[in-house]
Amino acid sequence: MSTLRLEARELTKVLSSGGKPLTILDRVSLAVAAREFVAILGPSGSGKSTLLALLAGLDRPTSGSVHIDGREIQDLSEDELAILRRDHVGFVFQAFQLLNHLTALENVRLPLELRQEPSAGKQAAVLLSQVGLAERGHHYPSQLSGGEQQRVAVARAFATRPSLLLADEPTGNLDSKTGTFVLSMMSELQRQHGTTLILVTHDPAAASLADRSIYLLDGRVDREEIRRATAAESTR
Ligand code: ADP
Ligand code: MG
Repeated sequence: MSTLRLEARELTKVLSSGGKPLTILDRVSLAVAAREFVAILGPSGSGKSTLLALLAGLDRPTSGSVHIDGREIQDLSEDELAILRRDHVGFVFQAFQLLNHLTALENVRLPLELRQEPSAGKQAAVLLSQVGLAERGHHYPSQLSGGEQQRVAVARAFATRPSLLLADEPTGNLDSKTGTFVLSMMSELQRQHGTTLILVTHDPAAASLADRSIYLLDGRVDREEIRRATAAESTR
């Protein structure tokens, strides 16, 4: 499985809040094609993180279903789900979640070493240079700015060549200029690797990079926008 298609059907999540049911996602349906870059936008509290957790199989819906390459993930065991995530899914979070006792290069190299990739060091160095940090490989996270740390996290996420990359507010801790820079790097790597990318954000800049943007409001799909391909892209 080198590419990945994902579908959510009528996803509903109801929590109990002070004894009363609270609907935080209300019949959300979406289909993401292999290699597509979909941004999920919406104000804080609109249900974006909840939706992403359901798509990743990290949380279970109250009703509705998630299908990955036609398989309903609710039918998979915890072990099968863990293997699916390990082999095919990457994550980028708001808090960069780098290992502080490892250098930038070691952070990117680690997931490759865990898979016993023979050229882990070389691949990690290539990725670091692709995010513009070739010269910073020996620096520890504490010696890097927030934007640089997130670029290391992006390089690490792409290192294992996941079919599907899920990102939850990856620019949430960055100023808008740095955030836009990080998003453009994610978009560049996504295209180059043919990754399916689902990016949750409240950063409107994401909408101009994504193939499609889905706007959530109060747990529902409010609207959807398809970015018009430029002439250069439509011939690729
Ligand atoms: P977003 O990521 O768009 O900010 P979330 O998916 O985190 O939104 O949350 C959607 C809504 O559900 C929010 O109103 C939030 O307060 C509520 N919520 C999320 N998780 C819980 C929880 N475990 N208990 C109670 N309310 C929750
Ligand atoms: Mg959130």
